[in-house]
Amino acid sequence: MRAVVYEGPRKVSVKDVPDARIERPTDVLVRITTTNICGSDLHMYEGRTDFETGRWFGHENMGQVIEVGEGVDKVKVGEYVVLPFNVACGHCKNCERGYTNYCLTAQPVPNWAGAAYGFADMGPWPGGQAELLRVPWGDFNCLRLGEDAQEKQTDYVMLADIWPTGYHATEMANVKPGDQTVIYGAGPVGCMAAYSAVIKGASRVMVVDRHPDRLAKAEEIGAIPIDDSKVDPVEAVTEMTMGLGADNGCECVGYQAHDPQGNEHPNMTLNRLVKSVRFTGEIGVVGVFVPEDPGSPDPLYKEGYVAFDYGEHWFRGQKMGTGQCPVKRYNRQLRDLIAGGKAKPSWIVSHELPLDQAPQGYEHFDKRDQGWTKVVLHPNGALAGA
Ligand SMILES: [Zn+2]
Ligand SMILES: [Zn+2]
Repeated sequence: MRAVVYEGPRKVSVKDVPDARIERPTDVLVRITTTNICGSDLHMYEGRTDFETGRWFGHENMGQVIEVGEGVDKVKVGEYVVLPFNVACGHCKNCERGYTNYCLTAQPVPNWAGAAYGFADMGPWPGGQAELLRVPWGDFNCLRLGEDAQEKQTDYVMLADIWPTGYHATEMANVKPGDQTVIYGAGPVGCMAAYSAVIKGASRVMVVDRHPDRLAKAEEIGAIPIDDSKVDPVEAVTEMTMGLGADNGCECVGYQAHDPQGNEHPNMTLNRLVKSVRFTGEIGVVGVFVPEDPGSPDPLYKEGYVAFDYGEHWFRGQKMGTGQCPVKRYNRQLRDLIAGGKAKPSWIVSHELPLDQAPQGYEHFDKRDQGWTKVVLHPNGALAGA
């Protein structure tokens, strides 16, 4: 089968690799119709993780089931399914409590937790930017889709990661009807957090970024764009909230946060968020941070340390939630919002490409080229509506 293989910093190529296949009775084999390039793929693409060359990316996957192991009861051949980026067993201590983001079985490193397809430090699982994907614990991990699966594939594929992740940020930040919410980052996840806040009935959603195309996407759903290359975002939010600060906020940028000149400051958005959110407000952090980043230009962050303004955070009595999203907590309900015509997360998609054009897709998305807000790949030539 063909797959988007990582060859080293900023180099991927589409190559033949061994076919994914059923390896255990509980596996499901999926022919991928739709798979996204994610902002978190870029950390690996840029060589800022220990992702091994020769492996392939792809954790935002959907497709059609072509084979099931003999221990699979629910999922049937022919069904369309979308896969949470989390690989989870369903029976460990964390999965049983709903924390499929911290599965103990799917992560082989002792005393670690959490696994994902095609991801650094998240287990051996191959990615879905390929023609086929092996889904372990298939009955647990597959979310089945209805008859509109093909027609709405660019909506449903967002259930693999970015929409639940954006939603999770608003859950950790406790966004409620009437709230004033600030989102740092208008990339795909930031836009999905803004979308979730709008759906939850926030009275005002402010989105901080500096890329005009991304801010325009946020504005399309009724968010207020704040361009941090032109204004101080903390002042802008403070002014818009009569000096009090936002009720809650979401961090959707992560450790490669940088100023408009391109200099990285891993603490930049966190510290701005603390100052943008009111006393006793709540914050959800879904932007990726890692335990160590030897390639960081920030000496502290080489060891994973962030110069966080804890004093201000404590003084304001704020709460903060962090970490990857347990996709299964939300994907069923969010699927039904799409099926019921109440949500259309594909509004974020700018490009749909065949798998062979993945290298160009990575290059443009990595450079934040104007207009490349979200790239969807179709490995089996199944372009939308086909
Ligand atoms: Zn992702
Ligand atoms: Zn588990």
